[in-house]
Amino acid sequence: MASIQNITVLGATGSIGQNTLDVIRRHPDKYRAFALTAARSVEQMLADIAEFQPRYAVMVDPQAAQQLNNQLPPDGAATEILSGDEALAMVASHEEVDQVMAAIVGAAGLLPSLAAAQSGKRVLLANKESLVMAGPLFMQAVEQGKAELLPIDSEHNAIFQSMPESYTGELSAHGIDKILLTASGGPFRGKSRDDLTAVTPEQAVAHPNWSMGAKISVDSATLMNKGLELIEACFLFHCLPEQVQVVVHPQSVIHSMVQYCDGSVIAQLGQPDMRTPIAYGLAWPERVEAGVKSLDLFEIAQLDFMPPDEISFPCLRLAKEAFAAGGTMPAVLNAANEVAVDAFLRQELSFTAIPDLIEQVMKRHAVQQIEQLQTVLDADRWARNCAQQLMTEESL
Ligand code: NDP
Ligand code: MG
Repeated sequence: MASIQNITVLGATGSIGQNTLDVIRRHPDKYRAFALTAARSVEQMLADIAEFQPRYAVMVDPQAAQQLNNQLPPDGAATEILSGDEALAMVASHEEVDQVMAAIVGAAGLLPSLAAAQSGKRVLLANKESLVMAGPLFMQAVEQGKAELLPIDSEHNAIFQSMPESYTGELSAHGIDKILLTASGGPFRGKSRDDLTAVTPEQAVAHPNWSMGAKISVDSATLMNKGLELIEACFLFHCLPEQVQVVVHPQSVIHSMVQYCDGSVIAQLGQPDMRTPIAYGLAWPERVEAGVKSLDLFEIAQLDFMPPDEISFPCLRLAKEAFAAGGTMPAVLNAANEVAVDAFLRQELSFTAIPDLIEQVMKRHAVQQIEQLQTVLDADRWARNCAQQLMTEESL
């Protein structure tokens, strides 16, 4: 590998994208932002181009690309502005790129993340939705493309750090009993389903420990995030859902744990700051400074643990059911969730109707096996249409 690593940041203008650029900013001798992508955040992209001078900037929205081109100052000419999905795949698989941060939100991240895997990059995977939708195909692409897959989701990064280096994909072969997947419980931990009917988007996105994009913040509040993460863990670590125990840990200091057969539990602790897993992924197997405040255990003083409440928060159950159904069902769960969260954020659906809508869509779906990517994309489209239809029928 080259001494300065070329990095493509997919979803550069988002929460993970900006944290990634902050780590890159601290190590100009090690990392270079080669390509940055966004959907339509022109102002942020302009600022990032001015600072990082990437070779490419992709705005998926053609009008945003045009606007960016018009506003680019003369010294931005070193950056080529591109648009559209093909450009996303191109910068994710470009031969000069060493690492790809996959940090687009939602199903839109699937194709460029797959392109990075197929072309043998080090893939820093934040976009958990791609694994949920197409886990078997994604893992196959990683293997066939000889890519390196490093989990960025803080829990999976913690599990990765707590696993033996030689991990080959079978828990029992390494004396591992189970994975303990921690969850903060979100802003509504301890509330009953009745308490939750009138919660607002502002309350739902105000996560107690983490600062994140709107969609994942709502997913954390419904516990769908933990459901998606459970599926993500099963694909990443080749294990069964029964081997993954969700543990609510409100302080978000332990980011997850691995329990071994000799009674040992290995955990990774740290601040709730995504720059830690991002820096870990970029530098692995080495370590680099990430700008993260060191942990003061006396300040934290106490760590609590409790089981998740699947009655008030049915999304975790729905995710388990989707994974058990297999095939296209996780893609359907994911797509219905994206439609429901979007409608909730636009105040067109109540918080408690999110799981109801997802469940209705899942009930109407006939599962298909997923040998082809097109089957996944078709199921995604079907689920979006079905969710929209159900919302217009106002059956929720
Ligand atoms: P944000 O909403 O903050 O950022 C999303 C990024 O994706 C933005 O750059 C956005 O561009 C871009 N984007 C949005 N829609 C599209 C589209 N249709 N096509 C191409 N690009 C698009 O999200 P987060 O950074 O919070 O999350 C990103 C991913 O990382 C998610 O999958 C999330 O689950 C995962 N993750 C996030 C964590 C966090 O702490 N935030 C923690 C663990 C995982 P624009 O700005 O132009 O809209
Ligand atoms: Mg997480």
